[in-house]
Amino acid sequence: MATTVTAVRETVPGERRVALTPEVAKKIKSRGADIVIEHGTGAYAYFPDAAYANVEIADARNALARADVLLCVQPPTLEQIEQLKEGAVVIGHLQPHLALERTKALRDRKITAFAMELLPRTTRAQAMDVLSSQAAVAGYKAVLIAAEAAPKFFPMLTTAAGTIRPSKVLVVGAGVAGLQAIATAKRLGAQVEGFDVRPETKEQIESLGAKFLDLGVSAAGSGGYARELTAEEREQQQRALAEQLKGFDAVVTTAAVPGRKAPRIISADMVAGMKPGAVIVDIAAETGGNVEGSEAGRTVVSANGVSLIGTTNLPSSAPVHASEMYARNLYNFLELSLKDGALTLDWDDELIAKTCLTHAGEIKHEPTKALVEKA
Ligand code: NAD
Repeated sequence: MATTVTAVRETVPGERRVALTPEVAKKIKSRGADIVIEHGTGAYAYFPDAAYANVEIADARNALARADVLLCVQPPTLEQIEQLKEGAVVIGHLQPHLALERTKALRDRKITAFAMELLPRTTRAQAMDVLSSQAAVAGYKAVLIAAEAAPKFFPMLTTAAGTIRPSKVLVVGAGVAGLQAIATAKRLGAQVEGFDVRPETKEQIESLGAKFLDLGVSAAGSGGYARELTAEEREQQQRALAEQLKGFDAVVTTAAVPGRKAPRIISADMVAGMKPGAVIVDIAAETGGNVEGSEAGRTVVSANGVSLIGTTNLPSSAPVHASEMYARNLYNFLELSLKDGALTLDWDDELIAKTCLTHAGEIKHEPTKALVEKA
């Protein structure tokens, strides 16, 4: 029997993305699978049911009960996991460390769950990398938010009323989101600087036409990620940064260390030293915040008039392109296992093995397993 691939409406408030777009539905069908979606699944991303050709539309319970593969943006709820059949495959963001109850439910229902956050970041995996595709959306949007909130122009303007100097923008953290933020701020005409603790980012920042802000701290870790700074390194970074921040009109912070709370990089004292009217957009606000005083989902204005904007789920604010990229990422992952309508998981493939969170009643991701056992 052909594999049935399913997507249902996302249930997290404010989530507008969809894991299965009409384009990807067509590709999955061409590999011999059947598709059942809940009515209205793509509606918030402007993909109406009618755009999904040859796809069965059903109610959520029916779609979930028949799913061999469930594609999702946000993790399924406990109720949805209950409604899946034993042995079904779930692919999406599963945030394994945030909700151990969910991981236990996936294990106990014998779901084969692939948490796309766990995908190894190898060259072959690039086309499946949801963290990268969604971070690019976040970096782009964060700069637009900063430009909107700033009381100044970003570009230089030469007008009959005189010349306007370009805004100075700093991007903290030059991973995928940070580099996209730098590129976007450059396109808007700002004078852009960026910094990161990984030394290889200097060349990447400069290749975008921005300046590398050297704070004299280097903390390259393993797998292309940053490691946590030592107390001494942090102090040095803080001192140098406090001085530099006084000159910037807008700051976008994107710094993260995988599996940990976001590093606190900008203190309240540093904010107090900034220009009145300056704007800080903290993309990391949801995971602890790079800026002291920033709050996810709120704008806080400091006593000296600096706006701290704590963003939440930026990719959802560009649902069309974010969904297109996300759905293609999932398709590229699913394609490894889907042939002539049949699903065969190759456990010798490291992308399959390392992305797997639960399978056949076991938690396969050791750090999550340890957390569940400790709880
Ligand atoms: P991330 O979201 O984990 O972190 C964002 C950035 O914050 C990183 O560049 C990190 O170095 C920086 N950072 C951490 N602590 C900091 C601090 N105290 N001060 C300043 N900056 C700090 O990272 P990401 O965007 O997911 O990507 C990280 C790396 O992985 C990059 O090198 C990227 O090119 C690489 N990557 C590789 C692939 C692949 O080959 N498949 C795919 C995506 C990303």
